[in-house]
Amino acid sequence: PYDVLVVGGGPAGAAAAIYAARKGIRTGVVAERFGGQVLDTMEIANYISVTHTEGSQFAAALEAHVKDYDVDIVNRQRADKLVADGDLVRVELASGAALKSRTVVLATGARWRNMNVPGESEYRTKGVTYCPHCDGPLFKGKRVAVIGGGNSGIEAAIDLAGVVAHVTVLEFDSKLRADEVLQRKLRSLPNVDVILGAQTTEVVGDGSKVTGLKYTDRASGQSHDLELSGVFVQIGLLPNTDWLKGALALSPRGEIEVDAHGRTSMAGVFAAGDATTTPFKQIVIAAGEGAKAALAAFDHLIRAPID
Ligand code: FAD
Repeated sequence: PYDVLVVGGGPAGAAAAIYAARKGIRTGVVAERFGGQVLDTMEIANYISVTHTEGSQFAAALEAHVKDYDVDIVNRQRADKLVADGDLVRVELASGAALKSRTVVLATGARWRNMNVPGESEYRTKGVTYCPHCDGPLFKGKRVAVIGGGNSGIEAAIDLAGVVAHVTVLEFDSKLRADEVLQRKLRSLPNVDVILGAQTTEVVGDGSKVTGLKYTDRASGQSHDLELSGVFVQIGLLPNTDWLKGALALSPRGEIEVDAHGRTSMAGVFAAGDATTTPFKQIVIAAGEGAKAALAAFDHLIRAPID
């Protein structure tokens, strides 16, 4: 068996693998798509000490760094079951194979919920974005929309209002769902409009970048156009944890519950990154949490009874 088996090959999983391997213990990584979300990212400008890089370059660097150590990489394999197996933990793969390990670090990440309207995928990274912390500064002095009036949408609108010229929030429901304190803050800002009962129907562009969007007023059925340069989609982040349901404690949003050491509710199983309850889904945070989970796994191993 492995000493540490990491499930997931994004920033959290790569950091966990490197930290585990540096302890000289048997380390493996199983990943559906090594690199994770950064493979879908154009520019990265907030990974501390790296002024500017591109997602594909960052992903290649993650892989090269892991390969610099003695780590078994099992790429293009999906884990679909986690089972406690005596002193070991068994990770069953969709292929039918199973891997056993004394500890496991879960780092399966998350994915943004899409609007699924025309133009959304065409203009992804050309004006359509899912991350205000990442892409807000790209829209300095421009008009943008935030889709979604929950906590993440309203937090994004407040954040963006300080950076961009103007923010329009579009909410499908007839009221905002964000906490009242956030709504109050939003209403105090001069450069934000809120449109309720608005169903976004299309992202419009000129072929190379976003120029606006279309929405339908759900009450009147009338279609409207907005001219803007950016669309921030904030309608939910879905953790990749469906395969863990029933195996360990998940939050109501499906995030893996972790404590300050990255421990989950299953002995010997740790978790890190966007798949967990740790707030603020960012690369630098995922990498830090991955390192922490691996150190916690190592701590667990050195305390285990000698057999
Ligand atoms: P992920 O990167 O999601 O990696 C998850 C890994 O697990 C992948 O290898 C995946 O294939 C694998 N996996 C999932 N399910 C399974 C399974 N069942 N079995 C096996 N493997 C599985 N953050 C920033 O800090 N700066 C930015 O500029 C930035 N820009 C972004 C732009 C875009 C378009 C997106 C989508 C995100 C951006 N983020 C940015 C967020 C950042 O990418 C994430 O916070 C970070 O990648 C999370 O790392 P992670 O390792 O937890 O998960």
